[in-house]
Amino acid sequence: MGEPDPFRGDNPFYGPDGDEIIDRVLAGRSVATVYGLALLSVLGIVTVHHWVSRLFNLRWSRKSSRIDKIRGFLISRSPKSEVNRGMSITLLLYTAATFAALFYGACYHPVVLAFRMGIVAVVNTALLYVLGAKHSPLTLLTGWTYENLNVLHRISGALTVLATIIHTVIFLVYYRLDYIVTHSWTMAGVIAGFLYILIGFSSSKRMRATAYEIFYAIHLAGSFISIPAVFFHYPTARPFALVAGAAFAYDRAVRILLDYRLVQCTSRIAPGDTVIVQLSPKTSWPRPFTWAKGQHVFITIIGCGTFESHPFTIASSPNASETMDLIIRAREGFSKRFYDQAVQAGDGAIFKAIIHGPYGVEDIHMPGKQNTLPQHTQPPTETSPLLPVAHDYRPLQKTKVLLISGGAGVAFTYPFYQEFHNNPQFDVQFLWVVPHRSFCEWICVDDKMNVWETREQGRPNVEEMTISFAGNGPCWVAACGPDPLLRAVQNGVAKLISDGHDVHLHIEAFGW
Ligand SMILES: Cc1cc2nc3c(=O)[nH]c(=O)nc-3n(C[C@H](O)[C@H](O)[C@H](O)COP(=O)(O)OP(=O)(O)OC[C@H]3O[C@@H](n4cnc5c(N)ncnc54)[C@H](O)[C@@H]3O)c2cc1C
Repeated sequence: MGEPDPFRGDNPFYGPDGDEIIDRVLAGRSVATVYGLALLSVLGIVTVHHWVSRLFNLRWSRKSSRIDKIRGFLISRSPKSEVNRGMSITLLLYTAATFAALFYGACYHPVVLAFRMGIVAVVNTALLYVLGAKHSPLTLLTGWTYENLNVLHRISGALTVLATIIHTVIFLVYYRLDYIVTHSWTMAGVIAGFLYILIGFSSSKRMRATAYEIFYAIHLAGSFISIPAVFFHYPTARPFALVAGAAFAYDRAVRILLDYRLVQCTSRIAPGDTVIVQLSPKTSWPRPFTWAKGQHVFITIIGCGTFESHPFTIASSPNASETMDLIIRAREGFSKRFYDQAVQAGDGAIFKAIIHGPYGVEDIHMPGKQNTLPQHTQPPTETSPLLPVAHDYRPLQKTKVLLISGGAGVAFTYPFYQEFHNNPQFDVQFLWVVPHRSFCEWICVDDKMNVWETREQGRPNVEEMTISFAGNGPCWVAACGPDPLLRAVQNGVAKLISDGHDVHLHIEAFGW
């Protein structure tokens, strides 16, 4: 007896359009191959660009060129968008390419469409896992931070879930239920499909804001279980499931083997419902820890949400401080419970914590990262817009550094201030927007810092301040804080770049 026919009604492969359907299903493999290769090529181009810029320290130096205008446009942000225009365009192109791969020539018959959805979802699955990993070769190759990759991860996830829903619904309609439940390959597909859809819906912005731990648990368990489910679902899916599995295993192994540490910390209560936590590298077990400016760690306070870990930016420079300091503002969940415990325990209380990290990569344009200081010696030439810094700049002129933060965003900018403000090579401007001056107890404030009290002074015009300081650069701008502040900085820098100024921007946001 042969294998039973899975279809509820007539098998479309044996119907009058059978040959055409088979051809189109098989053509889906070629489409998926082209799609996969296109994605790989884009990553290849980004990688080459990153490494050429990094190794040869290249900078665009032609003033007011069309390229400057384009760069300025790409860095700017439209009023409603969460990301800059460059990233919006990247997301749009990726979405358009995915839609083309999903639907091109596939709307001939629902079964053709279902197969196409499946194969494109599976190609995306590999990408999804690589993009979602904290430790991934992509960070090294492209220089994109985990946070940048996470934006792509989210859109890739949404497209994969959409394709999975269409794939699942069509097969549930076309396949007999008794066939589905009695065959392991279809049941593997049902499990993977169900998990993908569950992960998709539990990843909504609302869910992340209200029940982060549930979102995280579903994400972790779902993404782990769905790898073997995809692998056993269909032979074509296997190589992609293996890539996803390798990305997942590598990420988790590095985290477990290298990232986790048990450490002691002390707490100090500060204005604005805030706890300042100081972690001592000397108490770190099983290995010491170190960090770089601008990085963040995940912390679990034992006895206060032992199964939760939360990200906080490291508010001290490793070169200027013996402790790793965190500024933790009380929100509603863990941070509020920890604040209450710390208030009860009093200043100087000691807690045991588990940290993992640090995460986040240093900006390659950060001052001190280049071989020489970026200063013009001669007017940029029309013929050669892209010149190595070594030929185009002279040392010993001050590099401007503009550090802008709002509220707890100072955790990001303060370590740069600690390191740069006494260095004669740098002209540092530090703007910190806070509701009230009492917040100054969070860090060591000096009179060179511009602390802007919104209760007294209203809101600053951050865009204008950015333009007035960072203009006539070279200038490196770093900013962290609420979204409107970041948008103002981005748009200020975008205008300067459009006008041919030599400005680099590094942004950090407290959320993903
Ligand atoms: C890279 C990064 C750096 C950060 N640095 C700082 C900092 O220096 N100081 C500071 O006060 N805050 C910082 N935050 C924000 C901080 O992580 C959250 O405020 C904290 O996790 C809230 O915990 P909660 O249980 O009290 O949250 P809730 O009150 O339950 O939720 C508040 C918000 O925090 C988000 N959130 C909750 N848990 C997590 C989690 N485990 N991971 C990510 N987001 C979560 C929720 O989605 C929600 O939007 C940072 C966030 C990120 C992503």
